[in-house]
Amino acid sequence: MKLTIEPIEDLPLIHAGDDLPALIAGRVALDDGDIVTIASSVYSKAKGHTRRLADITPTPRAVRISKMTGEDPRFLQSILDASVDVLIEFPFILSEVAGGHIGVRAGVDQSNIEDEMVILLPPDPMAAAAEVRDALKKITGRDVGVIITDTCGRAFRRGQTGNAIGWSGIFAIRDFRGDTDLFGHVLKITEEAVVDEIAGIANFVMGESNNGVPAVVVKGCEKWTGHDDLFFSRKEDFIRRALAVPARPKKNT
Ligand code: GDP
Ligand code: MN
Ligand code: MN
Repeated sequence: MKLTIEPIEDLPLIHAGDDLPALIAGRVALDDGDIVTIASSVYSKAKGHTRRLADITPTPRAVRISKMTGEDPRFLQSILDASVDVLIEFPFILSEVAGGHIGVRAGVDQSNIEDEMVILLPPDPMAAAAEVRDALKKITGRDVGVIITDTCGRAFRRGQTGNAIGWSGIFAIRDFRGDTDLFGHVLKITEEAVVDEIAGIANFVMGESNNGVPAVVVKGCEKWTGHDDLFFSRKEDFIRRALAVPARPKKNT
């Protein structure tokens, strides 16, 4: 497979009401099978999924967490409001958002937006990806895949990488189970999270600060088959279950 990865340059600062698919389609020649990756931050800005800190009244929980983390309680409240389940409160909030993604600070950002504002993740990232894909089809006639990405921290390893938050037109997972290796062994376990791999390289091209590249097109991906169960169910997720176990009692107590 030989991929080309094309940044979409010269996009303006995005504000609520902007037509992101039209802005993208006007700056790149799309082909069938291309994968258009879009930073969740700009998708959310275009749709107005942002909040003004001045409009937020923190609850006692946000105030309590703020005393531990030193963060603005209104910022913490925006995170709590965006969360369907909080796994960790300290040293940072780690929570699940609608759609199943689990992220540090619920993916709420204070960067690449005006002062005293926050950017929320899209409330329905799968629908967001489908909507962008449909819009691109209408404008260009091309059938592309779409991934909405966010830069996320990881467990066990330092450093953030791009993750897929929502996707459309492609399978999240490439399923290798049943395939044979070079020696004829049947693979029993391997499922490759291709949407995260593509989000990772796209995120690298986007950069995190003032690059101004919130969308990247990946060309040349061979089609893959698999499924969309990217997020573990609660039953499957044994690390999440381990986090829920109360702290081990101290010796002799
Ligand atoms: P996130 O990973 O979705 O949280 O988004 P980031 O804040 O890391 O931004 C990803 C890329 O998009 C970076 O290159 C930013 O400079 C760029 N970016 C963010 N907002 C805008 C915008 O409104 N317009 C343009 N042109 N680029 C933006
Ligand atoms: Mn982000
Ligand atoms: Mn980022």
